[in-house]
Amino acid sequence: MILGAGPTGLGAAYHLNKLGHTTWQLFERNSHVGGLSASFVDDKGFTWDIGGHVLFSHYAYFDQAVAEALGDEYYEHQRESWVRILQTWVPYPFQNNVRHLPDHALRECVNGLRSLHGNRAQAADFHEWMRSVFGSGIVKYFMEPYNRKVWGVPLETMSKEWIAERVSVVDLARIERNIAEQRDDLSWGPNNTFKFPKKGGTGAIYESIAGRLRDRIFLDHEMSVVDLEQKQVSFANGRVENYDVLINTAPLDLLVASCGSLPEAVRALAEDLVHNSGLIVGLGCEERRDDAKCWMYFPEDNSPFYRVTNFHNYSRFNVPGGDTDRYSSLMCETTYSPYKLEDKANIIDETVQGLVNSGMIHEPQIQRIVSQYLIDIPHSYPVPTLGRDKALSVIQPYLESKDVYSRGRFGAWKYEVGNMDHSFMQGVEVIERLFAGGGEPTLNGRV
Ligand SMILES: Cc1cc2nc3c(=O)[nH]c(=O)nc-3n(C[C@H](O)[C@H](O)[C@H](O)COP(=O)(O)OP(=O)(O)OC[C@H]3O[C@@H](n4cnc5c(N)ncnc54)[C@H](O)[C@@H]3O)c2cc1C
Repeated sequence: MILGAGPTGLGAAYHLNKLGHTTWQLFERNSHVGGLSASFVDDKGFTWDIGGHVLFSHYAYFDQAVAEALGDEYYEHQRESWVRILQTWVPYPFQNNVRHLPDHALRECVNGLRSLHGNRAQAADFHEWMRSVFGSGIVKYFMEPYNRKVWGVPLETMSKEWIAERVSVVDLARIERNIAEQRDDLSWGPNNTFKFPKKGGTGAIYESIAGRLRDRIFLDHEMSVVDLEQKQVSFANGRVENYDVLINTAPLDLLVASCGSLPEAVRALAEDLVHNSGLIVGLGCEERRDDAKCWMYFPEDNSPFYRVTNFHNYSRFNVPGGDTDRYSSLMCETTYSPYKLEDKANIIDETVQGLVNSGMIHEPQIQRIVSQYLIDIPHSYPVPTLGRDKALSVIQPYLESKDVYSRGRFGAWKYEVGNMDHSFMQGVEVIERLFAGGGEPTLNGRV
């Protein structure tokens, strides 16, 4: 049995189907598939993802599944990302392009790099690590404010182990050469492209994958209790099903809370799993927007959001009638958590004001906003805290001893392997392990 029809659950189902197995069932709480990678069309005809979703695939297997799902119904774009800071645009990665900053900030960033101190290998946490790698200037202007905004937790509570691939580290000689030669050192280029569905947003990929497996996918089934001894799941709608093996992709903290009998140590450790939440504000505008950027980072406190996507650039069909001469759409992502409270009732107004403050739109353009779409995501980012790995090292083996395999962004609670491609492959690889004994390379960080 599989719980959840997001990329992980569908990856498991897709692989079972490929292997010719027919005795599985997948139960999903929502009345649609896709999980956090689903998309929605609002009343005015704008399409929205749950935050800007970009495919960064590391796997031929996943690429093949996406190719089958989309056929030739996709666009291909360069991954172009920027940082908005001090009223200017700095290409991403920020540290390589500090030459775009005003003189005083540029000097602070370079001086910080020249006088690095602290041993990165011995840094106790993420905050200490960033100071030892980036120096005080880059930390002050970008790393610290941006990461506080995205994670919404004290950075001292986060580990440094997850960052290997996520944060490109620095090369002082290269940065000084970029400054001297006035050269942009970009994270995008000819090979850095991503595919995006022509119609239906990111969710179209998963709708299509699920389409071929429909007769074994049961929507509107919310797991409420798991009986580990009887190997039985009870759903909120009254249905009860038995399983041999359970692949769970619902958040691990909620799974643990749903298990009737559990050792107290396992239950207590699940409380060490930290996550943040998100508010996604989609703003549909009746106005053409000539701005080639894909997505932009906002470290400053003049806006609530940490990231904005020019979503009309991903597909013209993300706006009504596919008419990008008439419409554009901005998708803005804000984190909230117990440490970073946000007012859901006011987030749309605050987002619009943030767009004005950061120079994304001018005041009169507010009148051109014809659609406002708000998505609340209770589980947005699984936070890699200092206590996470210890908790996982107890919870996961216990569940596996009961034939429960918890995988995916929140199922496995590993942000560093929590993107769509990783998640899909966690589903594929757990099936491979169960039938052929593979080592689940993605889950175990061997991507
Ligand atoms: C703001 C944001 C931006 C992102 N951007 C990107 C990006 O640019 N690129 C990228 O690759 N990835 C991105 N991601 C990550 C991507 O969304 C995830 O990798 C992916 O959706 C995880 O798949 P999953 O199946 O593990 O989990 P989910 O997508 O969370 O799916 C889990 C499923 O389980 C179901 N479920 C939960 N509880 C129950 C229950 N009790 N009973 C039954 N079903 C249940 C849920 O309804 C859901 O359908 C982003 C995520 C967020 C939040």
